[in-house]
Amino acid sequence: MARRRQLYEGKAKILFEGPEPGTLVQYFKDDATAGNGAKKGIITGKGVLNNRISEYLMMRLHEIGVPTHFVRRLNMREQLIREVEIIPLEVVVRNVAAGSLSTRLGIPEGTRLPRSIIEYYYKNDALNDPMVSEEHITCFGWANTADLDDIVALTLRINDFLSGLLLGVGITLVDFKLEFGRLWENDEMRIILADEISPDNCRLWDSKTNEKMDKDRFRKDLGKVEEAYQEVARRLGILPEAGARDLKGPEMVQ
Ligand code: C5P
Repeated sequence: MARRRQLYEGKAKILFEGPEPGTLVQYFKDDATAGNGAKKGIITGKGVLNNRISEYLMMRLHEIGVPTHFVRRLNMREQLIREVEIIPLEVVVRNVAAGSLSTRLGIPEGTRLPRSIIEYYYKNDALNDPMVSEEHITCFGWANTADLDDIVALTLRINDFLSGLLLGVGITLVDFKLEFGRLWENDEMRIILADEISPDNCRLWDSKTNEKMDKDRFRKDLGKVEEAYQEVARRLGILPEAGARDLKGPEMVQ
């Protein structure tokens, strides 16, 4: 079988050339990093779960009219996506204080914010993804004001929808990170949701106990990391049928 051309390898995913022009295959790894690669590890089965969780959430978002890069899941670790020109921003939405917001501003973790906050970080590992303002973004041409209007409108809709969906299964959406890309169709450009939505880039707390069900368990050595990702999938009703054993099976690569 001919090997596909690898276009990019990130910390948690690999992108391969897709079967048709304008498509890519997104492969989910079990590798986990924190602190911009300072801490490294493996979360067994994470790639399989994130592939499913991201598929599920992107499909639900598609149903309410949010444009996404997701086309379809191909197998346990891969999904077909549309190729976009990634906007070099990490768009973070916060509903409850945690993580860098708590550290930077001294707001106690768990404080419900009076309104949701959107923050932008410039995607650049060498610079440690610094926080930037709209002024920086437009000044350096990473996005223009019309792009940012679209990004904010989509981000707020995604936050409202996902907060409700997750609360319905007993999970508080504390904060999360989104990435967007430009999709060109003829001469028209649209901004669509890209990357993934999974416990790797969301803070998810049990809504009754506030127990962490996301990558903070790995970042902070809290243990039961695999179990937390599985529990998110289970509550969403998408845990692979054979349970955890299914997660360690051989990976089918087309
Ligand atoms: O670390 P911080 O509190 O700024 O993270 C906010 C949210 O963005 C968290 O849900 C975290 O998982 C996500 N994030 C991410 N990738 C990064 C930085 C943050 O997914 N490089």
